[in-house]
Amino acid sequence: MNNTNSHSLFNKACYKLNCSDPGCSSGSVGVDESSGRRGSMGRRGFLTNLIGAGATVGSVTSFAETPKKSVASASEFYADKIIYNAKIVTLDSKNSRAQAIAIKGDLIQRVGSDHAVMQLRGPNTITIDAKNKTIIPGLIDAHTHFIRGGLTYSMEVRWDGVQSLAQGLQMLQTQAARTPAPHWVQIIGGWTWAQFEERRFPTLEEINAATGDTPAMIMHMYDRAWINQAGLRVLGWNKDTPNPFGGMIEKDAAGNPTGLLVATIGLPALVNTWLKIPRLSAQDQILSTQHFMRENNRLGLTSVIDAGGGGQNYPDNYAAIAELAQNQQLTIRIGYELFAQGGGRELENYQNWSKMVQVGQGDDYFRMIGAGEYIVWAAGDVTNFDKDPQVIPTVMESQLSAVGKFLASNNWPFRMHTSYDATAQRVLNVLEQVHREVPLNGLRWGLDHCETISAQSLERVAAMGGSINIQNRMSLDGEAFNKRYGERVSADAPPIKRIREMGIPLAAGTDGNRATSYNPWIGVHWLITGKTLGGAKLQGNHNLLSREEALGLYTKGGAWISKEENKKGTLEIGKLADLVILSADFFSIDVDAIKDLESELTMVGGRVVYANGAFTQLAMKAPEIKQVWLPINDYGKYYKVTKSTKKTAQNQQKQRAQSIYSHAHPQIIGDSGVWTVECPCAF
Ligand SMILES: [Zn+2]
Ligand SMILES: [Zn+2]
Repeated sequence: MNNTNSHSLFNKACYKLNCSDPGCSSGSVGVDESSGRRGSMGRRGFLTNLIGAGATVGSVTSFAETPKKSVASASEFYADKIIYNAKIVTLDSKNSRAQAIAIKGDLIQRVGSDHAVMQLRGPNTITIDAKNKTIIPGLIDAHTHFIRGGLTYSMEVRWDGVQSLAQGLQMLQTQAARTPAPHWVQIIGGWTWAQFEERRFPTLEEINAATGDTPAMIMHMYDRAWINQAGLRVLGWNKDTPNPFGGMIEKDAAGNPTGLLVATIGLPALVNTWLKIPRLSAQDQILSTQHFMRENNRLGLTSVIDAGGGGQNYPDNYAAIAELAQNQQLTIRIGYELFAQGGGRELENYQNWSKMVQVGQGDDYFRMIGAGEYIVWAAGDVTNFDKDPQVIPTVMESQLSAVGKFLASNNWPFRMHTSYDATAQRVLNVLEQVHREVPLNGLRWGLDHCETISAQSLERVAAMGGSINIQNRMSLDGEAFNKRYGERVSADAPPIKRIREMGIPLAAGTDGNRATSYNPWIGVHWLITGKTLGGAKLQGNHNLLSREEALGLYTKGGAWISKEENKKGTLEIGKLADLVILSADFFSIDVDAIKDLESELTMVGGRVVYANGAFTQLAMKAPEIKQVWLPINDYGKYYKVTKSTKKTAQNQQKQRAQSIYSHAHPQIIGDSGVWTVECPCAF
């Protein structure tokens, strides 16, 4: 071939990040990764032509051929980046494996052997030695609450991954000591008592001792929350405070609130209480979102489907993410659904929104993809399995009929939060009527969660071309589910085998950050083992997936939901160059080590958005942390237990036993003290 690079294409010594050969620029690193990330369909078209010229995704034994040079000039021919010496799992239809991948613009130019791909190396090609590590397509979380979670991530102490309550309480104590008024210490979901070696909830005494005079709210899924004494004073709760809607304030023998708030019908009491806690400023919410993007990239996520949320109103609560999208600062692709914001006003919501934004509007980084996960509040069944499923009110049918017809006639895909089969049956009754008037096939609608969906309901979903999107809520709440419904029901919660056998499109996501953790590897681990974080194996063996199948639900599954299966989800020529070099070999490590996987290099559209370990020099700069008190300074990662942290936690537990009751907080609070619910930086 007509190679303009005097350096041998197949000189192994050159396959490194910093090549010392003056004739070779392939080793240059540290290029400006912040520019030029957006490819165009023109580029995609170009690559398609190139593919037509002979390049194919190959297995190790059938590598790609060299494209014919005549289709393009030399500069167009050469790759921008090549990652080689890798174990690449493409997840294509042949389940091909490869060694190297070439990237041009934001797209994959070739996947194949080191030999075949290195033929695309030109004078300006950046080469990255993957050091024989495993590369997978970037993960896609098909159901999470990323946009809402990003707004508060940097100010939350998160117990995700913390394995002992002692360590968790120590985190509370440290954070309380440095949190300035008017801010609170807050832990808002994403953990379960079953993950702790103590296997219990914290007590109010422990929480009060750890947090002292700093207000604190600790929420356990959508089940209950503990407010410390300082928090009760700030909220002004006393003997006369009535129970909030959807919740019960526990009171002691004297009639005073103890600090325990229990949800009775779902999430409103907990969320409405949390909403009284001061927020970050608008600018800091943007920064917080950047930190959350980075944390998601660190775990190997390159795309999420955002399921909206109660109180997550469009467009008001989308200002931070929209600004990042506008400034091309997103490092994760977001397909977002619009979540109805009030019972009885759902149709009005969608009518208004349809005048503001169209399905598909946006770009590959930020795009509106439909309605969900609540399109009618009355149909929303309870989120935590410790509660009796509430009876869905009869008003649901007429509301869903109106909203369903509106969405279907406007070609809006929609997804519905549906935990239980009783809910699914009633929802399907309505959707079948809608379907007779406006066919739903082809709309990519579907049901999310579906822990107890029956075979009959699945047949009805399939008949209307629907899909299922499951979440690993059983990872955190499986013990409560099992206690209530028993082992037989737990073994099919959800019925993964049946859904797959029926050929119903299936995707998986976390449902982070409150009902579960945002860590997708916990979800992948659950799909493979059927185990909760507490170690209980609840899923039946027939529902367990192979590692490749589980990975497929977290990549191809989500790509299908957002109608982007031709763009992402697998590593194939012409698709977006979204990939992850993993910290360990997903396919051969001990199954429980899957929970500890993370990325060493995450690439979105050919751009390195996160790098660590051997690839640190390729990393983007981490977002700044403006306030030293923010928990993200110390706890901004899914918590990893090391020998030293475990030992420290044990020592600290001992120390606290001796000294906790003399804990002196630097802030002084009286009944009208420094803490207020009015925050000067809130908006
Ligand atoms: Zn839900
Ligand atoms: Zn959700």
